[in-house]
Amino acid sequence: MRIRAAVLRGASAAYSLEDLELAPPGPGEVRVRVAGAGMCHTDQLPRIGLADVPIVCGHEGSGVVDAVGEGVSRLAVGDHVVLSFDSCGRCRPCVQGAPAYCDTFIDRNLTGRRPDGTSSLVDAVGGHVGGRWFGQSSFATHCLATERNAVKVDPSLPLELLGPLGCGVQTGAASILVAMKVRAGSSLVVFGAGAVGLSAVMAAAIAGAATVVAVDLHQHRLDLAAELGATHVVLGDTPDLLESIRDLTDGGADFSFDTTGVPHVMLHALGCLRMTGVCGYVGVQHGTLELDDMALVGKTVLGIIEGGADPQRFIPVMIDHWRAGRFPFDRLVETFPLDQIAAAEQSSLAGGTIKPVLIPER
Ligand SMILES: [Zn+2]
Ligand SMILES: [Zn+2]
Repeated sequence: MRIRAAVLRGASAAYSLEDLELAPPGPGEVRVRVAGAGMCHTDQLPRIGLADVPIVCGHEGSGVVDAVGEGVSRLAVGDHVVLSFDSCGRCRPCVQGAPAYCDTFIDRNLTGRRPDGTSSLVDAVGGHVGGRWFGQSSFATHCLATERNAVKVDPSLPLELLGPLGCGVQTGAASILVAMKVRAGSSLVVFGAGAVGLSAVMAAAIAGAATVVAVDLHQHRLDLAAELGATHVVLGDTPDLLESIRDLTDGGADFSFDTTGVPHVMLHALGCLRMTGVCGYVGVQHGTLELDDMALVGKTVLGIIEGGADPQRFIPVMIDHWRAGRFPFDRLVETFPLDQIAAAEQSSLAGGTIKPVLIPER
C-alpha cells in the first residue's frame, strides 16, 4: 500500500515527507491508519547514531485498524487502538507480566526491521527504509503493528491525542505507580518536567504522595507542574539545590525520579534521598555516572524501561484516571500537521512544546 511518511535519511538531515510502499500485514500484524503520533525523545536515537537510517520513527501512534494479518484474533478492522512498544509474549519477563524488559526488546523496537529481519517499508526507488520503530513507525499515514502492541480503546475517546499514552506518558506514570510503587504520604522529587516528568507528577498525586517536588530549568514547565500536582517547584540551577530539596522533604526524599539522563542530575536524584529511599532512572543516559564511596549506602536504584508497565493493562488504567479528571495528560499535548514535523521537533528540543503530536493529512 502507498503511504506518506516522514523519513529520516541522515543523523543531521531534515525529515523528508515521502511516498513509501508499506507491506501488507503479516501473521500477527495489523495495519493502522494513524490518527496522531506523539514525538518522544527516544525518536532522537537515530540522530545520535544509536539507530540506522533511513528510518521512519514515531512510536506513540494511535489510529484505526484498517487491515489484519493471519492469525489476528483480538483485533478487527475498525477498532480504535493506541500503539506501544512491541514484545514477544514468550520470554521470562513477558510471561511474568513485564514486557518492557522483553529479551527481544531491542530487536523488536530499535532495529527498523521485523523480528525475522524482513523489511516492511520500501521507498520510491525500491530501497529499504527502516520501519516497525517500536513495533510501529507512526510518523506516517499508516503503519504496521502487532496484536501485542496495539491496545484497543473506546471509540468515544479523542483518538488523535491518545498516542503519548503508549510511551512517554506511560513511562512517567507507570514508573511511579508500577515500578517504584510510590506510597501515600511519601515524598517524591521529579527531575525534568517534560512529558515523562509531568506524567510522573500527576501519577504521584494519584498515589497520594504528600510532597511532590518538581525540578526543571524552565519556569513555564514548573508552573504547569504546580498545576498538575507538584507541591513545590525548584529551578534546576538554584545554588545549593540539594539543600533546598532536603529542606522541602524533611531531610531527604523517600523517592526520586530522573527523566533527564544527565549524569550530574542523576547524581542529584540519588543525593536527595534519605536512607531507604528509592531512585528511579529512565531515559537515555548521556555519559558516565561516577559514584562516590557512600552514594549507594542505604538506597535502592531502579533502571526503569517504559515504567515497567504492560501496556495492555496500564493504558486502560491511565484512560480511567483521565476520565475521572485525575490525569489530564492532554494538557501536555500540542498538535502539529505531520508535514510540520521539523517545527515540532525544534519546539520540543528547545523546551517549548512539552508533547508534540503529529497529525497526518486526511
Ligand atoms: Zn518477551
Ligand atoms: Zn518514547
